[in-house]
Amino acid sequence: MLYFKLENGQDLAAAVQAMTDGKKAFRIWEGDTARTYDRRGLCTCCENIQADADAVQLRPDMDADALRNAHRIAAARETVRTKERRAADLLAMYSHPGVMLDYIRRELLSLVNVAYHSSGKIEGCHSVDGCASCEFCQKMIAAAGHNPLMICGSCYAARDAWKEIAWRTHTLNARILSTVLFTADELATLALGALCRINEDGDTVNEIHAQNILRIIVTHPHTHFGYWYKNAPAVATGLAAEGYTDRASLPDNVRFVHSSALIGFRVQPCWFDDYTFTVYPDAATVAEAVAAGAWECNGRRCRECKYHCYTGPRAAEVIDTAELLRCSKPDRARILAAYNARKAQQTV
Ligand code: SF4
Repeated sequence: MLYFKLENGQDLAAAVQAMTDGKKAFRIWEGDTARTYDRRGLCTCCENIQADADAVQLRPDMDADALRNAHRIAAARETVRTKERRAADLLAMYSHPGVMLDYIRRELLSLVNVAYHSSGKIEGCHSVDGCASCEFCQKMIAAAGHNPLMICGSCYAARDAWKEIAWRTHTLNARILSTVLFTADELATLALGALCRINEDGDTVNEIHAQNILRIIVTHPHTHFGYWYKNAPAVATGLAAEGYTDRASLPDNVRFVHSSALIGFRVQPCWFDDYTFTVYPDAATVAEAVAAGAWECNGRRCRECKYHCYTGPRAAEVIDTAELLRCSKPDRARILAAYNARKAQQTV
């Protein structure tokens, strides 16, 4: 069922005609009056209920393209809403002893989204993402409110309607993968290609999430993984739980990329890091880091640097990767001022 809502006084008949596609039933709200239509646009029910949060606003000034886009957004919301509701039911059942766990686990895993990127920065890669809605990211975003140097204050997830769908899909990923510890056999069924980014969005939520990711890596030996995280303690406990105790024991097909929470300041590497990843406030600070031995990312397409963070060397010394902060001019000036102040404090 697709959901729409009208502005006061808008032409209902025209909206019904525009949203009838011969395939999907839909509901249109005018205030608290909800009319339900079948796929042919025939009204089947009229009731008084509050508009659903997923109802897409229709406006009288929308042209044909805008109406088509509203229809696409409503369809995408319907898909993700169905998955969210099913996952919530399954997770509730999962916490009850004595239910058919295997069946529930299999269905929950089928709700985990594996994306393929046919364009953009990680073109050619699959990704298994978490979401900035997770507990860890929310804590970091809240902290960024008091510290302009925290990169989580520049998080660009969920900025537009299509990001909203990704946000909800990835929230579901994080919820499922941080709650249910899947077996290696189960995780081996995920279809991946030659390259996979872990957490293009979001972070590792907890130990269970880290264990699931590590099991995905081990069960896909022909895939090269780039595993990004700021929540290094969760990754560390996941590694310990999976029996990894030193660098020699780590799987060969993954590079661990420890992303710094502070703009311009490299994180202290952990024992399992292959690379640190630092976003620098301007071109001069990137150049300084590169002169000191960092690999330059600068937001290039990963294809152009031959997927360094997925397939680069596992050296004894952890290399930093330097990326230029993408932001507006005023934000850069503000962040640069905070960076210079902190640098000056360090040198006192
Ligand atoms: S350094 Fe290369 S592989 Fe790593 S994020 Fe940047 S472009 Fe991608």
